Amino acid sequence: MTVLDELLQSNAEFLLKNQVQPEKLSKKPRRQIALITCMDTRLVGFLEEALGIQRGDAVIIKLAGAVAGNSLDAALRSLMLAIYELDVKEIIVVGHHDCGALQTSPHRLKDSMRLQGIEANWIEQFEHSILSWLDDLTEVESEVLKLVGALRQNPLIPSTVRIHGLLIDPVRGEAALLHSGYHC
Ligand SMILES: [Zn+2]
Repeated sequence: MTVLDELLQSNAEFLLKNQVQPEKLSKKPRRQIALITCMDTRLVGFLEEALGIQRGDAVIIKLAGAVAGNSLDAALRSLMLAIYELDVKEIIVVGHHDCGALQTSPHRLKDSMRLQGIEANWIEQFEHSILSWLDDLTEVESEVLKLVGALRQNPLIPSTVRIHGLLIDPVRGEAALLHSGYHC
């Protein structure tokens, strides 16, 4: 059975168990928050529970590294919708310990692309963004603060939107406050 088969089978079982009409949820996050966090597998179905976030509470934007390098550009499109269409009033950048993006070597990434048959000219075209993205990364705390600062400076984000920074342990789920946006 392929993974896709497994997912579809799980879906059929899910539908059988959930015959009752589901609660009607709004697209707009009830708690008016957007989280920017990492795509790390350890945070799947864990981050929300660790922070007490229920279905319908928040917009969650997931990016490799979340807080790393040029994440601002990658996050901005989603944030514009979140703020101007979905009434988000607070943005929370959530970095995590042991982040794969901060441990990735651009050279190893390029080697792997080559081994998987990607043509050299495409790798070259991509190289600039890979190197500038991955080489600029420092430790996760400063990456969170860098992204919080870049969001705060961004002229497309209203000054009334609060921007916070958290750091979470992907094993224990302990969250540390790196920056509160309530006083600035
Ligand atoms: Zn990560």
